[in-house]
This record gives sequence, C-alpha cells and structure tokens, in this order.
Amino acid sequence: MLTIEGKSVFAGIAIGNIKCIDKTNHKVKRYKIENVDNEINRVKKACNQAKKQLEKLYNEAVVTVGEANADIFNIHQMMIDDSDYRDSIENIIKTEMVNGEYALAVTGDNFANMFASMDDEYMKERANDVRDITNRIITVLTKDTNMSINEDKAIIFGEDLLPSQTVQFDKSKVLAFVTMKGSVNSHTAILARTMNIPAIVGTGKINAEIDGKYAIVDGFSGKVYIDPDESTLIRMMELKSKEEENKKLLQKMKGKESVTLDGKKINLFANIGSLADVGEVLANDADGIGLFRSEFLYLGKNTYPTEEEQFSVYKTVAQNMAGKKIIIRTLDIGADKQASYFNLDKEENPALGFRAVRLCLERRDIFKTQLRAILRASAFGNVSLMIPMIVSLDEIKKVKEILEEVKKELAENTISFNKNIEFGIMIETPAAAIMSDVFAKEVDFFSIGTNDLIQYMLACDRQNPKLDYLCDEGMNAVLRMIKIVCKSASKAGIWVGICGELASDKNLTEFFLKAGIDELSVSPTNILSLRKKIRETDIYKLSDDIVCDI
Ligand code: PEP
Ligand code: MG
Repeated sequence: MLTIEGKSVFAGIAIGNIKCIDKTNHKVKRYKIENVDNEINRVKKACNQAKKQLEKLYNEAVVTVGEANADIFNIHQMMIDDSDYRDSIENIIKTEMVNGEYALAVTGDNFANMFASMDDEYMKERANDVRDITNRIITVLTKDTNMSINEDKAIIFGEDLLPSQTVQFDKSKVLAFVTMKGSVNSHTAILARTMNIPAIVGTGKINAEIDGKYAIVDGFSGKVYIDPDESTLIRMMELKSKEEENKKLLQKMKGKESVTLDGKKINLFANIGSLADVGEVLANDADGIGLFRSEFLYLGKNTYPTEEEQFSVYKTVAQNMAGKKIIIRTLDIGADKQASYFNLDKEENPALGFRAVRLCLERRDIFKTQLRAILRASAFGNVSLMIPMIVSLDEIKKVKEILEEVKKELAENTISFNKNIEFGIMIETPAAAIMSDVFAKEVDFFSIGTNDLIQYMLACDRQNPKLDYLCDEGMNAVLRMIKIVCKSASKAGIWVGICGELASDKNLTEFFLKAGIDELSVSPTNILSLRKKIRETDIYKLSDDIVCDI
C-alpha cells in the first residue's frame, strides 16, 4: 500500500480507480508559414471558438456552482480579448513567420511567468488562467479534445487541474479530485468544494505509476491510500458508510429555505476561523457567514498580518460567498487567544483583562489596519462588521469615530468600499445585554456571543471543565438575558442573532425563535440538521410559557 498526503479541500471518502489526467500540455511544434494573414485569421477564428466554449461553460457553471464561481469563465473570455495578449501572438507570427500554435504557446508562457512573478496573490493566480486560455485556444487549433472521461467513475488525479477542466468533468463520473500541486484557495479547490466532491491538493510529485490503480481518497485526513491493504479498506468502508448514512438524511435540507412552518425566515449562518473553512460553509449550504473570527489570522505568526494579507483573505471569503452575507468580527485577541508579538502584559485574570475591543481602542494602528482591510473587502461582497466584547456606549462611539476616520481616508485615496457597511456589536457581556436598549440605537445588529455571555453572567471560567454543570444550572438566567436582548432589538427595529455555541443546541431552538431571534450562526457541520429543526418549528403555535415574561 502506498500512502500519500496532501491538503484536504473537501471532506469525504472515495473508493475507486485512479484516472490520471494530463494538464493538456500540448507539445507544440514550431514551423514556418508562408501566409501571415491566413495564420492570423486562423488564430482569430480559434479565439472566437474558444470564447464560445467559455460562454457555454459559463452558462452551465452558473447552474451547477453559482454565478460567482462561474464568473471565472467570463474572466477567461475577457483575457482572450486582452489586446496585449493578442498583439503578442500576432507579432510573433508576423516577425518570426511561424505557426499560430507556437506563437500562442510562447505568449502564454511569457504572460504566465509575468503574472507568477507578481507580489499580489490575486495576480499570481492569474498565471494559471493564462495557461488555461492558451491551452484552450491551442486545443481548438489542433482540434485536440482530451478533457472528457469516458470510463466508469474515477478518482481524478492531475498535476494541477485547471478550473475549466474541473467544471467540465461529468460530476456523475468523478469520485474525487487529487492534485499534486494547487492551493486550497485555487479556483479548482473552490469548484471542487462547491461540487461536493472529496478533494485533496498539494500531494507533491508522485513518482510511482498510479494510473488505473485502486485507491481510497480520505478527504477528512487529506490522505490517499493506493492499493490499500485489507484493514485500511475495511476501516475506510466503515467510515464511508457512516458518512453516507448521515449525509443522506440531511442532504434533503440543501437548497431549502431556513424558514419556520409559520413562514419566518431565519438566517442560518456559519462560523469560520479561516478562509479554508469556506468550503464547508458552501458544502453545507449556509445562508451566510455569521462570525468570521478574524483573530485567527493573527495567531501562529511572528508578526502582525499586513493590510494586504488581511484584505486578500476577507475579499476571497466575500467573493466565494457570492453575495451572501459575511460578518467579520474584528480582532478578539487576548485571554485564551494570545500572540506573543503583541507583547501584552501578563494578567491575573486574562478573561477579564485587556482583550478584544479594549486592545483595539488603545492600539489604534493595528485596529485601523484591520478596518481598512475589511472596508476594502466590502467592495467585493456582502461584508458586515462586528465588534466583540462591548461593555459601554463610549466604546461603540469611539469605534464608530475610528471607522469614520478610516472611511474618510479611503475615500480621499479613491479606494472603493461600501460606505453603508452594516455595523454590529456582539452582546457577550452582561453589561451589553442589560444596556441593549440603548446600544440598539447605535448599531445595525446584535449578535449574542453566548460562550462569553455565559462565562461572565455565571462567573464561570469557560476554560474550566469543572464548572460545566453551572452552565446548565444557570441557563435560565442566560435565556432571560437573551430575551431582554431580543426585545431591545425588536423595539429598535434591528436584527438579532446568536453566534455562540448555544445557537446549535436544538433543545433551545424553539426558545430562540419564540424570543425573536432572526439569525443563528453555527459551525458549518451543524447547518443542515439545524435547518431541519427550524423547518419543523411553528413559532405561532409555541406556547408563550417557553419564554420567560420580561
Ligand atoms: C462567544 O463568546 O460566544 C463568541 C462567539 O466568541 P468567541 O467564542 O470567539 O469568544
Ligand atoms: Mg466571545
């Protein structure tokens, strides 16, 4: 048995034979031509045909993977029409009196290398796109179509699958994708995720002959077992059947509205800590992202993430969510989330210490950098801003002042952003909950952080498992507080959600909905089961007794 390992971009188990796919790297021959105009016309026709293919692909992909993900095929059409790209091809044909395929291959290489050498991550990714369009046009010119799989279902193995290849595969014949290269943020990875197929990227070069071999792709661990031994096969089959059973039951919830029996639409959102989690969000059909814990971008590093680094992540998340809401929670460092380069003083009670918005209001440079990155990303999707650990009106006002300052600076530099970006606060301190009627007039939404609200209300350290029992015993107090917050929100006409772990407790769903909660944000894997629960609930029929009278 040969075991290889890469990065999982989509979980799941696939068992079957490997089909190695070449990256359609044409061995282009160079030959002299007599008639330059004829050759240029040949290339023009091929470009037009390639664009027609891309238009068709776009229309198909809109249906299968959504508009935002399909957009890559629009971008490819524009790239084919790029005047520098076209001029380069024509110049090579004219000056060297050579065939179009060769001129295309040279131009494609040059442009791809140029993009690959750029600092900007987005532009770097464009290198693959140039290769992709170039291969497509050459394929048309040489009438070579090598992209379909005619055999039975297979595990597709490639060096680095192109987005256009990925989306062209007949999904019913693909068991899994594995690539030797590729990043978790590549379009291929994004498409694989949205196609709901186990996928692993970045396995590194495989020297063994693997085409046609029997294999298992374990998208949970990122491992591929080639010629698996019996015990691995049994273990994986068990995992697969468990996974299938669960999935089958819940898959029915996909594409359905998160709406109660009496017609109240609930925003069923997902919590994430990184860009890599977006795959799960999409796979589980969340209505949006209700909590992006941005501090994870700051952890495990030696220094502060730059504005560009942050912008690139926020923007990609926003784009991948294709217009669905994404709520970015500003830096909540401190307490259990420490990064040494912040040089924070050692504290007696870190959970009650210098953390989150307290730190941001003092270290304004760090805060402003993050706000700039979030605001810039707001030009690329439906981005909202949320502030953690609020206890006072002063804090809200100070944050709003800084936000206005950053907006002004961006506007002065003609940098695009959403001027009306939705602005919300977390209700995770008893002070914020009790002041929620006042705070509601200052913000667009509330998101209740029950993890911290429980710890602060019940005076029990959330890190201490010995105190878990108190969470149950003190739950009525917490629920009462949630009711107060819902009432304040409703009175002020703003929406209110819960993004703490309690949101996924199905024993409390009826309470939350009766209390007036509009949004629940949970880990992606909880989305479908919670949607089922919401769809089975009739708020109108629930007795008033289930919520306390406040
Ligand atoms: C919370 O406190 O409930 C919350 C969602 O934030 P975190 O768990 O990141 O503190
Ligand atoms: Mg919290």
